Amino acid sequence: MPSPVWHPYAHLKTQSPAPKVVGGEGPRFTLEGGESLLDATCSWWCMIHGYRHPRLVEAIQRQADELCHVMLGGLTHDPADRLARELVRISPEGLNHVFFSDSGSVGMEVAMKMAVQYHYLRGKPAKHRMLTLMKAYHGDTAGCMAVCDPEEGMHSLFAGFLPQHHFAPAPTASFEASEAEVQADLDALRQVLEAHHQEIGALLMEPLLQAAGGLNMTSPHYLRGARALCEEFDVLLVFDEVATGFGRTGRLFAADHADVTPDIMVLSKGLTGGYLGHAATLATDRVHDAFIGDSELHAFMHGPTFMGNPLACRVALESLAVFEEDDYLGRIQTLNGVLCEELRDDAALADHPAVADVRVLGATAVIEVHDATSLEGAAAFARQRGVWLRPFGRWLYTMPAYITDEDDMRRITGAMKDWFLSA
Ligand SMILES: *Cc1c(COP(=O)(O)O)cnc(C)c1O
Repeated sequence: MPSPVWHPYAHLKTQSPAPKVVGGEGPRFTLEGGESLLDATCSWWCMIHGYRHPRLVEAIQRQADELCHVMLGGLTHDPADRLARELVRISPEGLNHVFFSDSGSVGMEVAMKMAVQYHYLRGKPAKHRMLTLMKAYHGDTAGCMAVCDPEEGMHSLFAGFLPQHHFAPAPTASFEASEAEVQADLDALRQVLEAHHQEIGALLMEPLLQAAGGLNMTSPHYLRGARALCEEFDVLLVFDEVATGFGRTGRLFAADHADVTPDIMVLSKGLTGGYLGHAATLATDRVHDAFIGDSELHAFMHGPTFMGNPLACRVALESLAVFEEDDYLGRIQTLNGVLCEELRDDAALADHPAVADVRVLGATAVIEVHDATSLEGAAAFARQRGVWLRPFGRWLYTMPAYITDEDDMRRITGAMKDWFLSA
């Protein structure tokens, strides 16, 4: 009998059997039978320390010996308290409150509920819709699907099931763009705000890097402009740093490139180094303090069973310690150097007729093609070279673990390039 495991995003009729992973070490995982694959995606961008990192494994083991789980309703514990303090310390100035949950999608649901209730409590209940961007991806739960790109965002068939929000065009200016070059993108945002601000509670964005929606990159000026527009129209700014957080764009948080503090910021993926599912929704005093009041409606009505799980908090603390002690930002800079040299600056790749664009930001690189069919077979091709790639749509990308060394980074970029250039 075939396995009863139902795989995500898989076409059941045509899917090939999934290879079985039996272990991993550093940037590689091992398959049953001994094949070892260099993971160019660090498992959907979360395994930033690679596999079987001794410090993370030990942190989980020690915590398991003390306390695996306890509810956060009416109780607290050291790992949750310490992690919340650490997140406040390292995140943009002013984010002083931390609400835990168990996944990136739920962290975003929390952010949206917080924004709606914030306005409600301030006497603006009409501000109950979101403003979000085309090419956005914020998760797979219902509330999140409604703020993903409605056309290309994989969820179009659910349109009738979802609440209606407002969409602005995806930013088009590049990371390097000047303030003037970003103006058209900001004007487009302003247009939607001018028309609908009475019902818009929050502007949501994946700052600088729209990840699962096609690795679209934009400028720090866009973040600063969005911050100013949110002030002008009494709209909360929510940064979904689920993918960009913890170094992916070259700074600890994408917000750091722009010196912007969002009102709410969501972290997940890299938070625990990928070792356990968890998320954190951070809020400023302004948002938090609106919930201080006498009516029963002032309580924030959300509480995932596993929020603040001690194992997850403990491994997240260890992940942060390793990140700082082992100079991950320096490592990311080194990886960025290789990605720029091998991919962004490769003239033959840029000139290849199938290739539409090559973009690099921090420890992220993507080769965008004109037509998705030109990536058919790319994953199998890379696997023959010992590299695990998982392209989607028109995007062949890498988001490596930060412990990937230069040789392995070149192995990954080589597999990506050779798919186009060695045929
Ligand atoms: C992955 C992702 C999510 C959803 O996180 P899950 O843990 O898969 O629910 C939300 N936002 C962004 C930007 C993501 O990349």
